[in-house]
Amino acid sequence: MYTATNKGFSIITSFGCGRNCKYCISKLHPILSACISQEDNIDWDRLEKCISETKAPEVNLSGGGDPFFEWERHRNFYLRIYEVARHYKKNLAVHSRIIPSDVELLKLFSKFAITVEYYDRNALLHLKDNMPHLQGVEINVRVVQVVNEMMTREDCENYVKFLKIECGVPRVTFREMFGSEPAQANFARLRNIDLGDGVLFLPDGDYHDYYFLHDNTLYPCFFGRNEESRQAHCI
Ligand code: SF4
Repeated sequence: MYTATNKGFSIITSFGCGRNCKYCISKLHPILSACISQEDNIDWDRLEKCISETKAPEVNLSGGGDPFFEWERHRNFYLRIYEVARHYKKNLAVHSRIIPSDVELLKLFSKFAITVEYYDRNALLHLKDNMPHLQGVEINVRVVQVVNEMMTREDCENYVKFLKIECGVPRVTFREMFGSEPAQANFARLRNIDLGDGVLFLPDGDYHDYYFLHDNTLYPCFFGRNEESRQAHCI
């Protein structure tokens, strides 16, 4: 898990997304909003220079959209970023809702944070079906739930129970929602529940050393240069 002292280097892929989450931080972003990355526009020399200079132990693919959206079309991108990361002795991590069926693709990643809603039964069953597939490639899986204003203690307990017992998921993160006061108040109520080993309540914040955007710009914070720019985009 990334912490304030162990930050990853994040590449914001902006490949698109088939969902419409109400808490989507990317939709509020002044550059990312409604933007789709074109792989041809990536300045690979600049990106490689940034990766060579970061102290982050990992390169993380994140969104701006879902990094595995239409993953079949982006194999060359994953392979190329893997080669660059490996050259600088960094692991590759990804944060997505989509579980690709391609084992060789999954093997490029050392960590996979999968967002699965507690309320989405189909997504939970899909994860359960795919866990043997993920365990087979020895990828380090963590499942993420963004805490909304309605989630209860019982919901958290049932979610963890299902993931650990039914799916064999070792790590679960309850993430504080960006910018929503009712959801943040609920997170504050829930965050001290002891749900056992491997379960973390993670406050909202920037957990990356730098953010490399689809237009080859680099930011120290997701929303720009500092915490003020982040707060300015709260809902
Ligand atoms: S899946 Fe991610 S990128 Fe897509 S709408 Fe939801 S939060 Fe936004």
